[in-house]
Amino acid sequence: MTDIRRVTVLGAGVLGSQIAFQTAFEGFDVTSFDIDDKALDAARERFAGLADTYRREVSGADDDRVTDALGRIASTSDLEAAVAEADLVIEAIPEILELKQDTYRRIGAAAPEKTIFATNSSTLLPSDLADSTGRPDRFLALHFANRVWQFNTAEVMGTDRTDPAVFREVVEFASEIGMVPIEIHKEKAGYVLNSLLVPFLNSAAALAAGGYASPEDVDKTWKIATGAPLGPFQMLDIIGLTTPYNIMVHGDASAQKLAAWLKENYIDKGKLGVASGEGFYRY
Ligand code: NAD
Repeated sequence: MTDIRRVTVLGAGVLGSQIAFQTAFEGFDVTSFDIDDKALDAARERFAGLADTYRREVSGADDDRVTDALGRIASTSDLEAAVAEADLVIEAIPEILELKQDTYRRIGAAAPEKTIFATNSSTLLPSDLADSTGRPDRFLALHFANRVWQFNTAEVMGTDRTDPAVFREVVEFASEIGMVPIEIHKEKAGYVLNSLLVPFLNSAAALAAGGYASPEDVDKTWKIATGAPLGPFQMLDIIGLTTPYNIMVHGDASAQKLAAWLKENYIDKGKLGVASGEGFYRY
């Protein structure tokens, strides 16, 4: 069992709200920080939505347990107060380097020495942020996947300055909140999951964009030949097309061509994936 009891989650957006709810659901006291009252109102709606989702989709999530989870989440827009008593801070604020660095500088000054900081960043390396924390030995990445209650990997990745004991504690904490920890031994952009997924999805897009095969036939090939339940275009529809677009547009010249194809044929036509009712498929 770890010494972690009080967890603060910075940012109550898509991922932050899920991490906060899951952590509270597993019995921890959680403080959820977001920037102002409007963001906190949106967070309350997210938590209520997650409560419904857990009741529907998570085994053992009866009314009592879900109500208890909601009761264990305290919300605040005061950053310094949010971290004052935290054992662990999980940061899930927007993917903007300067914003994160500035936030780490502030919480580095406000949090007790014992507090561990973990970033949920998908595309930044922890070493991009380590100096701004003021405590590089107690800082690492803890990366969740969207829909944490269902896709429950938690990739743990430190820098060469992360204290191995801190790494171990965060691995154990990830298990305590119902995640399957994936230990990454060296810094790697994209962790394990996106190192596999991004090139895979880009290769699929290149086949369709180049006119080699239709999205349906690419999916059919992948599913029949490997036994996988979903093809890459079905995955893209579930992820939502704007996230892969944003990754492609910052890639090399061939990735940028794919981004343009995705934009012209799908995004500009409002075909954003499952959430918009249509992407590569209709829903
Ligand atoms: P989001 O935009 O849904 O939420 C970000 C939240 O942070 C917002 O509620 C925003 O108000 C708040 N916030 C807190 N401090 C802020 C500040 N100083 N300035 C502006 N906003 C502030 O983003 P998200 O999708 O939850 O992503 C958050 C982090 O999680 C990113 O680092 C992202 O890479 C990572 N992540 C996202 C996913 C995903 O599928 N969305 C998956 C894994 C990791």
